[in-house]
Amino acid sequence: MSMDANGKTAVRFPNLPERIRGLERLACNLWWSWHREGWQMFRALDLQTWRESDENPVRMLTTLPLEALASAATDPGFLALYDSVLERFDASIASHSGWFPAEYPGLGSPLAYFSAEYAFHASLPLYAGGLGVLAGDFIKESSDLALPFVAVGLIYSRGYLSQRIRDDGRQEDEERTLDRTHDPITAVLDETGAPLVVAIPLFDPPVHVAVWRADIGRIPVYLLDTDIDANQPWDRSIAHHLYATNPEQRLRQEMVLGIGGMRVLEALGIRPAAVHINEGHPALAFLERLHQISGQGVNFDDAVARVRPTSIFTTHTPVAAGTDIFPFPLMDKYFGAAWKTLGADRDRVLALGVDPSQPGAGFNMTVFALRMAGWSNGVSRRHGEVTRKMWAGLWPDKKVDEVPIVSITNGVHLPTWIDPMCLQPLLDRYLGQAWIGEQERPGVWEMVDKIPDRELWRAHEALKEALFEEINERARRRWQSGSVRAEHVLALGSLLDREIFTVGFARRFTAYKRPDLILQDLDRLKHLLLDSWHPMQIIYAGKAHPSDAEGQRLIQKVCRLAQDSEFAARVAFVEDYDQELALAMVGGVDLWLNNPLPPLEASGTSGMKAAVNGVPNLSILDGWWIEGFNGKNGWAFGDEAGGEKAGEEDRAKADADAIYRLLEEKIIPLYYHRSDDEVPHEFVQVMKASIRSIAPAFSARRMAKEYAERFYAAALRPTQR
Ligand SMILES: *Cc1c(COP(=O)(O)O)cnc(C)c1O
Repeated sequence: MSMDANGKTAVRFPNLPERIRGLERLACNLWWSWHREGWQMFRALDLQTWRESDENPVRMLTTLPLEALASAATDPGFLALYDSVLERFDASIASHSGWFPAEYPGLGSPLAYFSAEYAFHASLPLYAGGLGVLAGDFIKESSDLALPFVAVGLIYSRGYLSQRIRDDGRQEDEERTLDRTHDPITAVLDETGAPLVVAIPLFDPPVHVAVWRADIGRIPVYLLDTDIDANQPWDRSIAHHLYATNPEQRLRQEMVLGIGGMRVLEALGIRPAAVHINEGHPALAFLERLHQISGQGVNFDDAVARVRPTSIFTTHTPVAAGTDIFPFPLMDKYFGAAWKTLGADRDRVLALGVDPSQPGAGFNMTVFALRMAGWSNGVSRRHGEVTRKMWAGLWPDKKVDEVPIVSITNGVHLPTWIDPMCLQPLLDRYLGQAWIGEQERPGVWEMVDKIPDRELWRAHEALKEALFEEINERARRRWQSGSVRAEHVLALGSLLDREIFTVGFARRFTAYKRPDLILQDLDRLKHLLLDSWHPMQIIYAGKAHPSDAEGQRLIQKVCRLAQDSEFAARVAFVEDYDQELALAMVGGVDLWLNNPLPPLEASGTSGMKAAVNGVPNLSILDGWWIEGFNGKNGWAFGDEAGGEKAGEEDRAKADADAIYRLLEEKIIPLYYHRSDDEVPHEFVQVMKASIRSIAPAFSARRMAKEYAERFYAAALRPTQR
């Protein structure tokens, strides 16, 4: 489908019968993905095609035979469902009412949100990990709260890597090409009806971008595409992959995102009143804002002063080494001609990106973003402290605790991450049908205690069953593909036992997350796994970045163990961790394990997802868990300062010992302690405490409201412009 700059759409599915024409609107907006009645309707349309199209309604409507559509258009049962979904959709999309406009009338000017990655749904994979999932959750919640957002990102046409593990345990990446015709995106057109193409200056020759639009409820997300005929090969490939490793290509990518993103908004007639960048990658958007203001004849210092009150920066990196730093000669190559137009000389502009602790290193994107943003934050209380300390040098007159970087702790989008099949219906029954809308009302989550233990436990068992089925199905398909040895099929989880206490560890494989920590003492682990009365099993999943050799080695280490008959298939590694598998795992295991090396987990969000599904956390005190743990809703270990005091090896020993002890003495006995009704009532108390305490405090709703109250309300005030 295509759409002109005013949002007019061309017909994408001309074969849809008139009576159900609205399916086109519903299919092209990912709203359905977090509204149960939405995907239930598509399922009801044709379950088989729904599955074959990977639960992507755009693909489904393209492949569904005409007869099937015709019969749906006369089926009273389907039509009733369709009418009610469409009515709800149209009412919520068209309406500009909601929490934000009610709370802040008159602040409707658009706020542009920039992020290098987004995870909205499996049918549009534009992410690498947690940062993208956070951005996706944030946009969905912004739609729910009617925040005045437009979002900007990149299309990675070859960016998404499917993971396969070879027989020797090594990761193999298979590039998945983005399917622009069947993915839920729409080409943006110019006034003549041709695809909009925007030229981005500073490149020689200029780089051109086409623009796609994804609709996430009420929020349009503009995605820039460099892989078009108008560009030379080296320019086409700018946005092939997430996070180009070549420094020059990385800079060019961030120029397209930040500067190109602002130019595209301008071409669409959108002048954002404020700009929020998610992590440092889009920081050059602030440079473009400077350029826009200087263009009106404002001098450089005044332009900086005008950009700051309406610029917002969220940093996610807890170590200085994690930020992008571009060497000065590279900056000169691309920006040499631009200094003049900013009304300043080169050194004054570049100085904005210089870290005083290493002035020669180059242009530091985090430093630049911190200097340009009047509003900056870290993503958990602890991360805020770490960040203030890390960048205190930028504010030499201030004490560390006065450094103007606050904390807004991350959250997860509850309608997306609370299992919609078993758990949401249970919450409907005991919390009231309106719990999603009222998720912040005190008292709503207290009602979790009203759920009979047996019902919560049965729901959990059903989720565990569904996870194991999914794992088996993946293993079966892999075996059928013919390229894999039998012991590897076992390592993929086909011998997992649903009666056994199951630990989940799923996240990006990289050194600081220490996926092998629980493998420290293999004999002790083996005792736990193979205990004849109270055994345990571990399900691993996660990808390593292609250039992260240590991450790849860790995958191999875990996979070899999973293949080792001595461990009796009680360790499994499930391939190709993605949003879908994440959703199945966070509800389907019995315990969520997290043991990064403090203070390197800025926040972490997968543990929140587990907690809101009633899966307790066993986690080190780092990131969000320092705030989340209350003594009753899971288990914690490690003291916050330990990572800095002890050597890494001692630390690993101590942390592993703490994990074994908690499992041996507390968690496993609690799990297997069953009453006559087979329900582990005390374990269920921990599950309930987990939902009750984590859902309201670590929701994307709480997070988005906090951004609105602390930043947006001030940044969007007309006097700021
Ligand atoms: C939630 C999520 C993450 C982030 O998990 P962390 O524990 O914060 O590292 C990464 N990938 C996927 C697919 C997720 O759903």
